[in-house]
Amino acid sequence: MGEAWARIRGRLREEVGEVEYRTWLRQMTLAGIEGDEAVVVLPTRFLCDWVRSHYGDRLRALWQQENAAVRRVEVRVGPQRPAPAEDGEEAAAPTRETATRRKGLAEPLADRSSTAGTARSADPRGDWSAPLDPRFTFDTFVVGKPNEFAHACARRVAERPATPGFNPLFLYGGVGLGKTHLMHAIAWAIRGGENGRNVAYMSAEKFMYRFIAALRSQSTMEFKESLRSVDVLMVDDLQFLIGKDNTQEEFFHTFNALVDAGKQIVVSADKSPSDLNGLEDRLRTRLGCGMVADIHATTYELRLSILQAKAAAAGVDVPNGVIEFLAHKITSNVRELEGALNRLIAHANLFGRAVTLDGAQEVLHDILRAHDRRVTIEEIQRKVAEHYNIRLTDMSSARRARAVARPRQVAMYLAKQLTSRSLPEIGRRFGNRDHTTVMHAVSRIAELMQADAAFAEDVELLRRMLET
Ligand code: ADP
Ligand code: MG
Repeated sequence: MGEAWARIRGRLREEVGEVEYRTWLRQMTLAGIEGDEAVVVLPTRFLCDWVRSHYGDRLRALWQQENAAVRRVEVRVGPQRPAPAEDGEEAAAPTRETATRRKGLAEPLADRSSTAGTARSADPRGDWSAPLDPRFTFDTFVVGKPNEFAHACARRVAERPATPGFNPLFLYGGVGLGKTHLMHAIAWAIRGGENGRNVAYMSAEKFMYRFIAALRSQSTMEFKESLRSVDVLMVDDLQFLIGKDNTQEEFFHTFNALVDAGKQIVVSADKSPSDLNGLEDRLRTRLGCGMVADIHATTYELRLSILQAKAAAAGVDVPNGVIEFLAHKITSNVRELEGALNRLIAHANLFGRAVTLDGAQEVLHDILRAHDRRVTIEEIQRKVAEHYNIRLTDMSSARRARAVARPRQVAMYLAKQLTSRSLPEIGRRFGNRDHTTVMHAVSRIAELMQADAAFAEDVELLRRMLET
């Protein structure tokens, strides 16, 4: 019987793929065969519902192949035995990722009585939360002009959650500027506080994922209840919910319920509430009615301070000249700045050599080149043509069909945005067109991007691909 079961598991694993298997099926154990029924147990009701509705038929069919006497498969909540070690799995020491995933899926709707005594119920406050990065605290956050307001608001919320005027706290800014860092810092501070409040931090993507999982397993009531029992809800990267109407709706209701109950909400996004096109109006309105704080692009001074702080924390002596050089060259965001410094430090440690300017230039040559790099009009034309699946020659052809004219306009728009060429010059490169044609293209695309979030995202994606 054990062998048959191992084969069934193996087959399922092949059929559904590794990720799905680990997410849903890995914790299945066979309790036994009772009459014509195979009994499979899982640790939580949530997992049981899911496995029954998604894999029930397949389980039964596989059992029948193994043992014709088995006509039914019963999936029920039962004690969790350690998962058997399987090829390629670290059963004893799950990676942080698998541990998180399992935890994330099994916990919110977990049947407490059946999980009592297992490690997962050790921290009931952690129920809803993704793990927090231990490096992201207020202590390690370097404050400067571009982020001082956001930082002050974050501190305030951490000290006194749900103060009127600061609820919700909406943090926004470009990538890599410290939004997630500040959110984790708030969560650490509140969790470490005296009252031991229940803080739930998660990405908007995770929020949606859980909501959909609850819908599928018809447990949205439990989903709502467990979510509404938190004291502080933090949702990171809310822009992810653009276009996801059902999830927005759910978030809106959760949001209202929590605020009405005097709970604190903290949200981050890459744009201000009013610029989050594609988010429901009433949600945008509510998001904007607390405190809205933006994190601006870094300044040279802030980059200097961040590099100094990080080098000091790593205990590595980085000469001022090198720090100034990096702060001057790597202007995109803090994440890249940090990445460059970490690479320098790793090299220095590995080879036991001091950090020097020459060395830095060598070790970082690829990063530095990317920052020097200018995009050419040819590259833009090639990428855009590829993206919309038209011929490169159509970028300069006279064809006016929408299918080629629109991509051509996108390319002109990007040429204006990403290069320093003049309008007449850009026109010449697109089949000797007049500069007014380019001007028209630029304003037309800007208009379309305003009106159509999906289109805007498309153009943004192209821009990002060209910039990196
Ligand atoms: P975002 O969420 O805005 O994309 P993150 O919070 O993930 O950005 O920040 C990217 C990286 O830069 C993180 O490692 C973070 O610790 C670091 N970082 C950003 N801003 C600061 C700051 N002011 N001081 C120290 N580190 C920072
Ligand atoms: Mg982030």
